Amino acid sequence: MAQTHILGFPRIGAQRELKFALEAFWRGEAGPTQLTEVGARLRERHWARQREAGLDRVTVGDFAYYDQMLNTAALLGALPSRFGFDAKTLTLPQSFELARGNAAQPAMEMTKWFDTNYHFLVPELSAQTRFDGGVDWLFDEVTQARQLGHRIKPVLIGPITFLYLAKSHAADFERLSLLDAALDAYRRILARLAEHGADWVQVDEPALCLDLPAAWRAAAEHAYATLGGQNVRLLLATYFERADEHAAWLAKLPVAGVHVDLVRAPQQLAAWLDALPADRVLSAGIVDGRNIWRTDLRRALDTLAPVAAQLGERLWVAPSCSLLHVPVSLEAERRLDPQIKAWLAFAVEKLDETVALARGLSAGPAAIADALTASDTVQRTRRSSERVVNPLVQHRLAEVDADMAQRASPFAQRIAAQRAALDLPLLPTTTIGSFPQTPAIRQTRAAYRRGELDALGYLESIRAEIAHAVRRQEALGLDVLVHGEAERNDMVEYFGEQLWGYAFTENGWVQSYGSRCVKPPIIYGDVYRPEAMTVATTCYAQALTDRPMKGMLTGPVTMLQWSFVRDDQPRATTALQLALAIRDEVSDLERAGIRVIQIDEPAFREGLPLRRADWETYLEWAVRTFRIASTSVRDETQIHTHMCYSEFNDILPAIAAMDADVITIETSRSAMELLDGFGAFDYPNEIGPGVYDIHSPRVPAADAMRQLLDRACTVIPPERLWVNPDCGLKTRGWPETEAALANMVAAARALRERL
Ligand code: GLN
Ligand code: ZN
Repeated sequence: MAQTHILGFPRIGAQRELKFALEAFWRGEAGPTQLTEVGARLRERHWARQREAGLDRVTVGDFAYYDQMLNTAALLGALPSRFGFDAKTLTLPQSFELARGNAAQPAMEMTKWFDTNYHFLVPELSAQTRFDGGVDWLFDEVTQARQLGHRIKPVLIGPITFLYLAKSHAADFERLSLLDAALDAYRRILARLAEHGADWVQVDEPALCLDLPAAWRAAAEHAYATLGGQNVRLLLATYFERADEHAAWLAKLPVAGVHVDLVRAPQQLAAWLDALPADRVLSAGIVDGRNIWRTDLRRALDTLAPVAAQLGERLWVAPSCSLLHVPVSLEAERRLDPQIKAWLAFAVEKLDETVALARGLSAGPAAIADALTASDTVQRTRRSSERVVNPLVQHRLAEVDADMAQRASPFAQRIAAQRAALDLPLLPTTTIGSFPQTPAIRQTRAAYRRGELDALGYLESIRAEIAHAVRRQEALGLDVLVHGEAERNDMVEYFGEQLWGYAFTENGWVQSYGSRCVKPPIIYGDVYRPEAMTVATTCYAQALTDRPMKGMLTGPVTMLQWSFVRDDQPRATTALQLALAIRDEVSDLERAGIRVIQIDEPAFREGLPLRRADWETYLEWAVRTFRIASTSVRDETQIHTHMCYSEFNDILPAIAAMDADVITIETSRSAMELLDGFGAFDYPNEIGPGVYDIHSPRVPAADAMRQLLDRACTVIPPERLWVNPDCGLKTRGWPETEAALANMVAAARALRERL
């Protein structure tokens, strides 16, 4: 019988218990025992779930109070030295200092885990880093699981992925110089896991799915030659992309099994089957760990049946990657449309799918007849449902042509028309969209949602907020104003709620980092805009001022990236549908007299595929969707876009091809270095490099911002520069916001006088 397992389970808890326990602890309202009690209960419950579902092993080591990369660093003994902590005696509160910073030290850096929305803490390495071993947390968890009577499979982040994702602040530091020291630590850990009763250990190496440089590939070979063949069997887990270029060398090493992602990269299966010697296990990641749709069980069985025939017991069945990236369970969803709910599988439901597939493989399809029938119904109803297929959208798609992705005139002509129409000074000042989301605004929205405030009362409060924001901006002397986004709690959800084809869960939380969770909406059908979404609020704001009011929209790629998306059509098609909806909104705004429209694309870079070979295709459709969304307007209407926290240098041709009249970008934390790339590339359109970091309440001095602008002027001609903060101001308070913007306007004015 094929064995079943998962690579990891969401740790946050079905009711976000871990989040609330962590936050109570951080506020000082709960002690460490209360917190660790919650952690222990969650692990216990999640293992019980796995066992009840019928999985052969429970996964141990996927739990973390904050982050599993941090736990790995603490386990190896490789903590950032600047905190002065001893990994062997590291306490939970100290680990939170690493994660969140303390009075003396900023937090460890955080970045996205591959192409997911999960953020891990980036290990910091230096020549002094020792891998002398550290905390016993993993072993304690193994002991806990065994005491509960579970058959276990511990999981570790592997040495290649750990080192590859780590950073060093020292120039020219070679991370691989630490490989042998790290391998010693891993060897000791594996030996201890064996002593603790582990027969298999899952070693996660998603880095093998990247375009690894030759030195790293060789390092991987060396690592597994060293680590394999000990007392425990290693299951080397790859996910998020294909990894079959590693099959040949892995086949020669004493690695007992490999996990491959057959959802993202089904094409690699044959290569693995060819390469793996007869004694190896192949764990087939066939249930989608990244998305929330029910598996097409019949199709999955068809894929796996020949594999099972070839491998027998050596085939394991699993989700494609850790279930960390999906919500815990559908059980708590009461308001979701029952038909749509029937199409979904969250983590708990995916356990059942995994087991059903294994049973179907061993005992034949008849053994899971009910599950197959249910699965067939899901596939059939999804294909034919009127909720999914909207003829209005289909007609629209059929009409899309090249002209729709093209402004009427080239930039030089447009900008002249815009300058005449908008009459802005040199170095115009603006903001990125949101103003402080005060407790009062949040309460208003909550009261409205609970039904305690009626629609008109709600609208009036929002209008009052808009009027306040407009008055403040006029008083500050900003040139292009915004309405402040008081009515939006989230830049994707706000639009999703007004579009057909989107569904929302009550409890579909997914961990983003630490205690932070997001609740991505679900795009299940053709995206259609039944009516204008932002025209009323934007026009209300415009009526309050003579200065240009910037309409504020979220772009197609960001709408896509921050949602769970359909798996029954290419992402590019869904993005195109979103683009058409936004295009109509842009046209409506223009018709209503709005002269500047910003389409935010903060997730543009994040959408890049993991493999370089796939970049071009992605960039091609991503740019096109932006153009379709933004090009319906006249020359004099100015299109802005905004992107934050990303590298741009390697995608500048695509950014330029988006052909926004103005792009605002985050730069202040990198002291304008980011702008150099735009300069070197001769980026043709206008740019607003952020002149201050909105993530801190610190009010920057006018002079500091003027210096940044001086520097910017050396890279981009001042006629093409805008002055703005790095990003939206919704997380800030009004006092610091007004002080900072006053200084920003002063800096722009000082420079204008000099130029
Ligand atoms: N317009 C949005 C805001 O100001 C942009 C947010 C973002 O870039 N993430 O909040
Ligand atoms: Zn931003």
